[in-house]
Amino acid sequence: RTVYLNGAWLPETEAKVSVFDRGFLFADAIYEVTAVIGGKLIDYYGHAARLQRSLSELGIACPLSEEALLDVHRDIVLRNHLDEGLIYLQISRGADDRDFAYPVKAEPTLVLFTQAKPVLNNPRSQTGLSIATVPDWRWERRDIKTVQLLYPSMAKMEAIRRGADDAWLVEDGFITEGSAATAHIVKADGTLVTRGLSNALLHGITRASIIDLARGAGMTVEERPFSVEEAQEAAEAFITSATNFATSVIKIDDVVIGDGKPGPIAGKLRRLYSETRLASAI
Ligand code: PLP
Repeated sequence: RTVYLNGAWLPETEAKVSVFDRGFLFADAIYEVTAVIGGKLIDYYGHAARLQRSLSELGIACPLSEEALLDVHRDIVLRNHLDEGLIYLQISRGADDRDFAYPVKAEPTLVLFTQAKPVLNNPRSQTGLSIATVPDWRWERRDIKTVQLLYPSMAKMEAIRRGADDAWLVEDGFITEGSAATAHIVKADGTLVTRGLSNALLHGITRASIIDLARGAGMTVEERPFSVEEAQEAAEAFITSATNFATSVIKIDDVVIGDGKPGPIAGKLRRLYSETRLASAI
């Protein structure tokens, strides 16, 4: 692959970052993941806006203008002949002598790379996912998309160890979100329930689009926390994320959701999301 590093296009084996980079030493970095389908960027402006918010919350300056950032996204797709997959972007505060206090003079490190993978016809979208619930032991600024991903990674490993596909994180009996996705349920009357925005969870770009589409389709949407028990008794459950779109959950711990098959409402929202976001992809 050809990757982008601080203004240079390099073969992946030649892209090197300092051992003093604060992304490496302190997880002092933020990231974004944007899906690519047919060589086009899905929901790009949402991801670009969240990127700016994450940077401003941490006081890191964006190394490129908005136009240049979009150009780099387009360029990396072309240089890698990426038809379907994702673009990973990371900005760290940069390198300086190790110190807890932020350095004044560090230049941010900007990295982009691509990963080719099926998004539209991801096999998981046909079968649905099984979920294990795991305590949410992350910090309390989950609204910032930082690269502090050790705990979500451990939670996913714990879920896999328990025979599930992924983890949903639980705080005070309520689900905050998945290890790398937003969690949603559908009640028997067809109401979509999803946790409201706060510092307790990442403000999912796909979540925002799905809520708009659900409301546009005449569905009632309740933005409030839901418990593990409410999720287990729901008619449907699903996750959303840039690379999963909407993907059904068919089991939570030992409890089968609905009839154990991907549900019709999650399927409809997935279709609506795919159609509308493909049409507006740039
Ligand atoms: N929640 C967490 C913790 C995530 O890591 C992600 C991103 O992958 C999401 C939610 C979904 O966000 P988005 O829809 O913007 O990809």
